[in-house]
Amino acid sequence: MYHHIKKLMYTVNVGTPDPRFGNMLLEQFGGANGELAAAMQYSVQGLNCEDPDRKDLLMDIGTEELSHLEVVGTLARMHLRPLKHRNGNAAADDPLIAIAGGGGVSLFNSMGDAWTADYLKITGELDVDLRSNIAAEARAKIVYERLLNHCDDPGSKDALQFLMTREITHMKAFTLALESLGKNPFSIGKIPPTPGLVNQYFDDSTGVGDQGEQNARGPWNQGGDWEIVESPALAQGVENFESSHGKGAEGESRATTRNRKTA
Ligand code: MN
Ligand code: MN
Repeated sequence: MYHHIKKLMYTVNVGTPDPRFGNMLLEQFGGANGELAAAMQYSVQGLNCEDPDRKDLLMDIGTEELSHLEVVGTLARMHLRPLKHRNGNAAADDPLIAIAGGGGVSLFNSMGDAWTADYLKITGELDVDLRSNIAAEARAKIVYERLLNHCDDPGSKDALQFLMTREITHMKAFTLALESLGKNPFSIGKIPPTPGLVNQYFDDSTGVGDQGEQNARGPWNQGGDWEIVESPALAQGVENFESSHGKGAEGESRATTRNRKTA
């Protein structure tokens, strides 16, 4: 059940409206990492969630995102409103807002692309969804940071600082909710990965790049259970690949490998 209270979650003040900045703000209104996408993603995940405690979390944050949508929409509207009236080349510069939108906001991103449910990541697997949400909050945070870097208006910056901060709060809550499930972080779903193969790191990009980048080693490919497989494609590593599946010593897959090599 939803209820609207005629009060913004955070007070919005704008000194001098800047329609160009208002357009940038639409990225967080109807954009891929914006507030509507966040609100819908978490709320629909919540509908699907069978864990009552995490369902509460998803509904809490999904609902807060709707309040953010109202704040950023109000802020964008204040910046765009001058476009409603004859104002320099406004109509030529931005007919979508000036002519079609009457200086108001609609569910478009900063480039005028319509909002789409394709932005949403909803898998119906709680830990997988929580990972998507942590990444979504990180993206929302960095977009707000960039908006702050392109803004000089103190009132606008104040509201954006609030919204940016809340995304970090959400990222923290989703991260701790994921950790509190107590799952091995590399265990997703129920079917286990193939032993051996899962620990093979394929060194598929080699040589020295234009920027001096070289073959790197780090905890992502060495130490622990890692086994580096050097340039498997160049080393005709198809055989390695198949033998690590426990087949291919004899029989059909070996023959297939040989045929492929001579083809
Ligand atoms: Mn938000
Ligand atoms: Mn958030």
